[in-house]
Amino acid sequence: MRKILVAGNWKMHGSKAMVNGLLKGLLAAPDSERAELAVFPPFPYLALAQSLLSGSSIAWGAQTLNPVAQGAHTGEVSAPMLLDTGCRYVLVGHSERRSLYGESDADVAERFAAALAAGLEPVLCVGETLEEREQGRTEQVVERQLQAVLERCGVDGFRRAIVAYEPVWAIGTGKTATPDQAQAVHAFIRDKFASRDDIIAGQLRILYGGSVNGSNAADLFAREDIDGGLVGGASLKAEDFLTIRDAA
Ligand code: PEP
Repeated sequence: MRKILVAGNWKMHGSKAMVNGLLKGLLAAPDSERAELAVFPPFPYLALAQSLLSGSSIAWGAQTLNPVAQGAHTGEVSAPMLLDTGCRYVLVGHSERRSLYGESDADVAERFAAALAAGLEPVLCVGETLEEREQGRTEQVVERQLQAVLERCGVDGFRRAIVAYEPVWAIGTGKTATPDQAQAVHAFIRDKFASRDDIIAGQLRILYGGSVNGSNAADLFAREDIDGGLVGGASLKAEDFLTIRDAA
């Protein structure tokens, strides 16, 4: 039985005051039996998240990592450092990392492998652009993005990992994939794993991301292969984020 996960990607938003207010707002709400929460603050606020969330049911993670464990990599942050701040998760291959910072499929696979090696649970983001969807290439693109990680880490690498399907055209645009569109790609992803290992495929949580909000979450989360959401904009206010969790 896969438990719904509602994960908040704060991107490059926040301040100490905002983190305090938002996390205290989340902590004030009773836990849900149906859905778990996780937050992904910017690096400078991970230690604050750790001090506020330790001992609670809310997990936290980082938005990216460098695949090297330590060394002369000015400005970078490694998997062991994330573990040291109590992170359970780390996003890898978010479309903004791919498009703005040039992360290739191979780079994403290295980050995924480094996260696993350190004991973090990577959240692998995949998804097509509008142009790719219009050309009918959605499955081909998602397959290529998954394949790079499968070749690097094998299907076993997904025993402790999450996949997030995030159509690029739906991220931060207010346009959400319909539940049918999202379910079709989620089923395609799960089938790809099932052809390698039925048990891993059955346990794998596949989140949907792309303008999830309090009005569309229930219909998305009700679909068979949609195991929660990766939420950007609507994760920045405790009330909005909790409304999405409670849609599960
Ligand atoms: C995201 O950042 O992964 C995301 C899905 O953003 P939004 O919910 O704002 O579309």
